[in-house]
Amino acid sequence: MNNDTLIEKINYECPFCDNLHSIEIHKRITKALVKDTVVEYEQTYYYCPIEDEEFTPDKILDQNLLKARDAYRKQKGLLTSEQIKKYRNNYGLNQVEFSNLLGWGDVTIQRYEKKLIQDETYDQLIRLVGEDPAFALNQLDKHRNNFQEDRYNQIRNILKNQIREKKNLSLIIQSIKNIYIQYEEESELNGYKKIDIDKIANILAFFAKYNDPLYKVRLMKLLWYTDALHFKKYNKSITGLVYCHLPLGAVPEAHEEILRLPSIKVEEEQVTDNGAWYRIYPTKEVNLNLFSTSELEILTTVSNYFKNMTGRQISDYMHREKAYIKTEKYQLISYSFAKELKDFN
Ligand SMILES: [Zn+2]
Repeated sequence: MNNDTLIEKINYECPFCDNLHSIEIHKRITKALVKDTVVEYEQTYYYCPIEDEEFTPDKILDQNLLKARDAYRKQKGLLTSEQIKKYRNNYGLNQVEFSNLLGWGDVTIQRYEKKLIQDETYDQLIRLVGEDPAFALNQLDKHRNNFQEDRYNQIRNILKNQIREKKNLSLIIQSIKNIYIQYEEESELNGYKKIDIDKIANILAFFAKYNDPLYKVRLMKLLWYTDALHFKKYNKSITGLVYCHLPLGAVPEAHEEILRLPSIKVEEEQVTDNGAWYRIYPTKEVNLNLFSTSELEILTTVSNYFKNMTGRQISDYMHREKAYIKTEKYQLISYSFAKELKDFN
């Protein structure tokens, strides 16, 4: 396997030369035996060019071991040490607390995050608790004696909040789905695509992150241009949203519900004669992995194209689109008009 890469050179107390000199840090994919299973993982090692010798400091050795074991866990469908840590951090717990919540000894979680591989029963329990705050709350109450009163109440509140958020989110998703049940079939109204709420949530976060300040009216137009431009090029919308001709421009059906998705925060900023201004803020990192290369390209194009236009200018721009001229007020806008979209350049 020729996969060795030089990462960097550092000055290090070399154990072969017994003095401080420049050594190389390398990475390579290698095989290891973990519990009778051969796994491939990325190993780090140090190299002394003077003596042509490899060596691995203890700290790096531990990291390599953890990587090999995580490779094993992945292969066996078990949670990796990172995933366990993520679940724990999500509830704001330290290692001892997470162990105690699960009814285990103080050091169990610490061991799983450091080196020991959990068996399947333990793995399932961590997963259940990590995925479901209601189940976590149930475990906390069951092992209440492991906690001081104050801390018990704090953790209980964190979990209760997460249960509430989860319930809210599922209600929002359900109400969007209810509205879109009539657009289940792929058609020129949804751009031959079934609604994808996860993508919508991340597109909202994307625009909120890269357009500052972002207001509701602008966001609605960015959404339409994103879907329309993608349709023009690839005969498919990205989100599956259905748009309606409203006085201010194209607006997706269920837009009130969509703006309640937790990937963004909407704040009423000022009230003018023409109504309130709603400013949009991102609340989470955008998950770009959801999008294909062509989708990302469209998102970036749309985001950049309108960046320097005022809301008024974007509005005027949109009002000159065939999609807008050829449809009546409150009429749904067919994606077929997107074929006549003005060029972006
Ligand atoms: Zn040396």
